[in-house]
Amino acid sequence: MGVELLGFNIDNYTFEEAVSVAKGLIDGHKVSQIVTINPEMFYTAENDSNFANIIKEAEMVIPDGIGVKIALKLTGKNAFRIPGVDFAKRLLKEASASGIPVAVIGAKEEVVNKAVSNLRSEISGINIVYYHNGYFDNDEVIYNELKAKSPKLILVALGSPRQEQFIYNAKKVLNPSLMIGIGGSLDVWSGYVKRAPEAFRILGLEWLYRTITQPSRLKRIFPALPLFLMKVLSSKEQR
Ligand code: UDP
Repeated sequence: MGVELLGFNIDNYTFEEAVSVAKGLIDGHKVSQIVTINPEMFYTAENDSNFANIIKEAEMVIPDGIGVKIALKLTGKNAFRIPGVDFAKRLLKEASASGIPVAVIGAKEEVVNKAVSNLRSEISGINIVYYHNGYFDNDEVIYNELKAKSPKLILVALGSPRQEQFIYNAKKVLNPSLMIGIGGSLDVWSGYVKRAPEAFRILGLEWLYRTITQPSRLKRIFPALPLFLMKVLSSKEQR
């Protein structure tokens, strides 16, 4: 089940459906990858066929931001927006309820430490068997440490496209598990970065809040977002 956008399949699950599919993947017999896709990732994929392939091979692709939702609307399609930060937190809660071991990789040392300690106090029964900061050179070392601990749910916050590449390569070597790229979620869970106020979130304007509060992010939205929307519109006209 999904909708097509610029050659990529996007799953149009509701939040609850996505949670239920993800739980199936956690219990599955292979390493699965969830991509939370945004306009910058389409832009990267256009210039990097390996990255495009990673998205195509992912077991689940969900629209994280409002940009992808708008693009789908422009082409007469629809998908539910599933904020990655909320989705990943929910998966942690689901895993904890069944005692499933989890791992968290990414962000600066003090950020991941604080995020882990906050998650441990917030989610009862959480079983974090492994965590590591996101500033390492040798992925093999991390893969080996993960293999030794065998977490079934692995959250990876290295920013895109690095986190998707890390997960894709892990698919070939790790024990069965579900891996998801979670971008800046550890920064939020650690409390180092504040989430947008609810009004912004409800309107889908979290990106606007983050851009205002961290103007350095502007270069991530431009030119990716306008180019992405133009491309979507022109692909629609060509049909
Ligand atoms: N990060 C990392 N290793 C790196 C580069 C980035 O662990 O080599 C972390 C960074 O500290 C931050 C996250 O990856 O916690 C990326 O956050 P960003 O805001 O770029 O993600 P977004 O949600 O916008 O994709």
